[in-house]
Amino acid sequence: MSEPAPDLARIVREITDEMRDRPDRGEVATYIPELARADPRAFGLAVIDAAGTVAVGGDADVPFSIQSISKVFTLTLALGMIGDRLWRRVGREPSGNPFNSIVQLELERGVPRNPFINAGAIAVTDVILSGHQPREALGEILRFMQALALDPTITIDEAVAASEKRTGFRNTALANFMRSFGVLDNPVDYTLGVYFHHCAIAMSCRQLATAGRFLAHSGRNPATGHSVVSPERARRINAVMLTCGHYDGSGEFAYRVGLPGKSGVGGGILAIAPGKASIAVWSPGLDAAGNSHLGRIALEALTKRLGWSIFGV
Ligand code: GLN
Repeated sequence: MSEPAPDLARIVREITDEMRDRPDRGEVATYIPELARADPRAFGLAVIDAAGTVAVGGDADVPFSIQSISKVFTLTLALGMIGDRLWRRVGREPSGNPFNSIVQLELERGVPRNPFINAGAIAVTDVILSGHQPREALGEILRFMQALALDPTITIDEAVAASEKRTGFRNTALANFMRSFGVLDNPVDYTLGVYFHHCAIAMSCRQLATAGRFLAHSGRNPATGHSVVSPERARRINAVMLTCGHYDGSGEFAYRVGLPGKSGVGGGILAIAPGKASIAVWSPGLDAAGNSHLGRIALEALTKRLGWSIFGV
């Protein structure tokens, strides 16, 4: 692989240095006890441009819990399985509510607002599970991640999955509520088991940025030439990431960063600069909406310096 363009490498290095020195680091998630072990001083950044050149900074090769970032990939898989019929099970409007909120579900008869809030992602997982044993469905999700990241060593952190299973009372409530409306087809325990495990996939920034490349390049991973989804579907997944990828922080993320992005409570963010780059950042401290505090700040600095916001320079 060729060396990254000098500007990109320098900018990634500068931003990494700036982030490492900042005192404001947000709060590490503790509601999944195992995530509380993350080091708030960690910071990683990986950018892969259209030519396939990679610029990395800090802890870009340290695996972390991808949590809700996995929802981009389960959405992609479920759309591949049942196509646009998926949108009967889950909406695609921003929720304006926290990621684990239950309030809209009752008013909207168990149909979650979008595939990235927890309820919506659980409904998507249920679609992937249908017709399979939980182990098979999970294997399919993991193999999909490995294939996209071009790395068969990616695994699930079983301690994180078990920790969320022990404490996932809210997600259990959401799933039972949806089941009562007939929105879930499978036993709630099975669906949640697969959901907790795909959230517990551990990946580094470099692996995540690699896995996201198809979204930056009209559905095709330029490294393999393999078409993952059609250009239209890639565009639409990016649209849902832009409007819903940061929960009730999605407006602020679009305002400041200006890219489709998906965050996870492990402190990761996958961001897509269409036609230009796939970007992953990781800093475990979160803001009040549950999105990586320094991750967002780093992405804002990056898009500003490179003129990469989809809304202009
Ligand atoms: N597994 C986490 C949960 O369900 C994912 C939430 C997130 O990353 N925002 O609470």
